[in-house]
Amino acid sequence: MLTEQFPYFFAPEHAGLEARARDFVAAGSIADRVAALGAAGLLARRDTRSLAVARRQLAYRDPLTDLAFVIQELGCTPLESAAVLPEVVADARAGRRVLAFGLTEPGAGSDVRAVATAAVETAGGWRLTGTKHFISNAPDCDGAVVFARAPTGVAAFFVEAPATEAQRVASHSIGRLVLDDTPATLVSPRGFALAFGTLERCRPSVGAAAVGLAARALDETLAHVRRRQQFGAPLADLPVVRLRLAEMKNELDIAALATLHACWTRDHAQGARVGPVMAFGKVVATEAAQRVIDTAVQLHGGQGVEEGSVVEMLYRAVRPLRIYEGATDVLLGVIGDQLAQLVPEVKG
Ligand SMILES: Cc1cc2nc3c(=O)[nH]c(=O)nc-3n(C[C@H](O)[C@H](O)[C@H](O)COP(=O)(O)OP(=O)(O)OC[C@H]3O[C@@H](n4cnc5c(N)ncnc54)[C@H](O)[C@@H]3O)c2cc1C
Repeated sequence: MLTEQFPYFFAPEHAGLEARARDFVAAGSIADRVAALGAAGLLARRDTRSLAVARRQLAYRDPLTDLAFVIQELGCTPLESAAVLPEVVADARAGRRVLAFGLTEPGAGSDVRAVATAAVETAGGWRLTGTKHFISNAPDCDGAVVFARAPTGVAAFFVEAPATEAQRVASHSIGRLVLDDTPATLVSPRGFALAFGTLERCRPSVGAAAVGLAARALDETLAHVRRRQQFGAPLADLPVVRLRLAEMKNELDIAALATLHACWTRDHAQGARVGPVMAFGKVVATEAAQRVIDTAVQLHGGQGVEEGSVVEMLYRAVRPLRIYEGATDVLLGVIGDQLAQLVPEVKG
């Protein structure tokens, strides 16, 4: 557990939460998983390190349940930040509603400022028209936070039971929100502030999910190389295999440390600007986890790419983490921009 390996990042309540997430089991539809997470008290609003320890444990065992967990957080956070629709938040955090977070559009991916979904205020309230795509849990949601262009700028809205179309991405429930003069409730006229604040809050937890996937890959690999006999001995007896294991362990710990540094910084930020540190945590962890899982596949040989094997599942599950909630190159741009703006200093 992260709270045992790196105790100096944590308070006692984090250890209890991590143990509960480790022992949590869910199955069935996204709604079933969300209901079980809510009943177990795992969806309550907590700090960033709590999101991280929960996601590390959930992703290790079950990436789909991990996604069910975090998408509820993405859906609730803008409503909580704007202090609106408390009954929706209460239901979502209790696991009685599945929410989605609709920002991305066919013409607005990394460039979210290109959002074109239109918001029009009528005598009967706000109406939205446009399409959101690659929206996690869209096919299963019964409510979505949607960002749309109003006359005064991009605002945040809540849409009850939006029409959806499924898309196909491995280990995901994902799809389009199809908005056609769809009634919506205004959440906040400051849509981008809510969207960016929500993404920044959840971003380091993507690193934690990557750590969970990579930790599983390392454990699967250790079991495999001790069991698998080649050249008359276990693969684990080969010096090059041991070197690869050591590299995996180092990368895993680097991923965890980068994630926890970002989470700790966010939890102690007190309003300070921490975007580049959040970017650092996600980029370092997800890139390292991808390398760990790639080595796991390699050390499993043919079994590593066999459909249905755990490491093959992990290989597909880890890949989107380097794309969503800020693609690696976009986040490197955030870090680079900050560096470029710094006044040059001579430092010892
Ligand atoms: C599995 C999955 C789940 C998702 N869930 C959600 C969700 O719940 N809600 C939601 O709103 N969206 C969601 N998304 C969408 C996700 O946020 C976008 O896919 C992501 O922002 C990238 O946008 P894009 O796919 O349009 O790629 P593009 O913006 O076209 O970018 C493609 C690539 O170009 C490069 N690139 C782009 N811009 C820059 C730049 N400025 N600097 C350097 N390189 C750059 C990067 O390598 C990037 O990966 C999800 C996506 C996936 C794959």
